[in-house]
Amino acid sequence: TKEDSRNDFKMFNASISENFRTMLTMETELRRALKENQFEIHYQPQKNIDSNEVIGMEALLRWNHPIKGYIPPGTFIPLAEKTGLIIDIGHWVLKHACVQNKKWQMEGHPPIVVGVNLSAKQFHQKNLVEQVHTILKETGLDAEYLELEITESMAMSNEEFILKTLQGLRELGVQVSIDDFGTGYSSMKYLSRFPVSKLKIDKVFITENKKQNQAIVKSIIHMSHSLNMKVIAEGVETEEQLAFLKKEKCDEMQGFFYSKPLPPKQIPGIFSDRMVN
Ligand code: C2E
Ligand code: CA
Ligand code: CA
Ligand code: CA
Repeated sequence: TKEDSRNDFKMFNASISENFRTMLTMETELRRALKENQFEIHYQPQKNIDSNEVIGMEALLRWNHPIKGYIPPGTFIPLAEKTGLIIDIGHWVLKHACVQNKKWQMEGHPPIVVGVNLSAKQFHQKNLVEQVHTILKETGLDAEYLELEITESMAMSNEEFILKTLQGLRELGVQVSIDDFGTGYSSMKYLSRFPVSKLKIDKVFITENKKQNQAIVKSIIHMSHSLNMKVIAEGVETEEQLAFLKKEKCDEMQGFFYSKPLPPKQIPGIFSDRMVN
């Protein structure tokens, strides 16, 4: 009836404005989070599969909200990206991950590479290379201990610009890896032209032990090696998955099987674990 559809419309309207209000509140809160130091970085160890040594840590952003507690990045990064706030947040992450890695080195831990996720907007900034250079200078971290993770789709647009940025980063000595590899669209032509040092196989191919997934994982490993890149598998949760990766000569692994992302104060335990193994 007419009455029903009017009510439906009202409800529809109300839910739109409620969504909108939630988004506005979240945007305001995100700004405040940055100002009031509510962000934290957790670190997930990465291991060399052959030597079993910890060789890197991926920096993963956490929002420790004063009332709601930990909010996972999947719920606020998209909004941060949409509003442009990701530029400031991303700069904060980059800086703090470098500070932390330098600190571990100064404390005498064996040097590892810290991996930092870059959002599309961040990667497309004109002065990204300069920013990274400044952060390395300010923190005193050697460029070889920083790795920037970009996704396939980011690497596939505006070829000339991307190539220039990647070459600039390479000249600094920073490593670049392609994250979530296999889920996007990439062409062999780009892969062979871009100075990228590592492919990160997306966890969807690791988690589900299907014949097709195993075939995909094998071919990504072989392709990486023939393009002189290293390859790491994400989302490794079981011994079987690790055994398969080892058999197929995958270089590195990351996943809950070894460790979930940890707050910085738990990382020294990971370093000493490395000595024992
Ligand atoms: P990602 O870059 O693909 O990060 C890996 C995600 O997989 C992390 O989720 C990690 O906790 C999770 N993970 C690791 N091992 C396992 C496993 O064995 N099993 C399963 N099921 N999951 C595993 P998280 O921390 O929730 O991050 C989600 C996404 O948020 C990241 O995906 C990344 O795209 C984004 N993100 C996180 N931190 C940042 C940041 O500082 N900047 C930007 N731009 N994006 C970030
Ligand atoms: Ca990543
Ligand atoms: Ca990933
Ligand atoms: Ca991702």
